[in-house]
Amino acid sequence: MRTEELQPLFVETVPEHLEQGVLYVSEKYGTAIHLCACGTCGWKTVTPFHIGDRGWVYTRDAEDRITLSPSIGNQQFPCKSHYYVKANKIDWLPMGPV
Ligand SMILES: [Zn+2]
Repeated sequence: MRTEELQPLFVETVPEHLEQGVLYVSEKYGTAIHLCACGTCGWKTVTPFHIGDRGWVYTRDAEDRITLSPSIGNQQFPCKSHYYVKANKIDWLPMGPV
């Protein structure tokens, strides 16, 4: 089942076992990781935001909701999911090139 919303969990280091629907955020290491929002493939999606213009733009609002930009295109995953994370919500895009 597709994930419609991610629950952010602020951690220092990402745990070994990841739960579906949780966005693990390490501000210390400048990276976020979640299981692909398709809910099926279970692949880890890593979105580093500490590497300047090659990473994602990470926004944490006053209510701790996370926005990642640009979109997340898991083209290399079997599901080929493509979506935005906007204030924790998954905004699904049609599959295809990012
Ligand atoms: Zn997937």
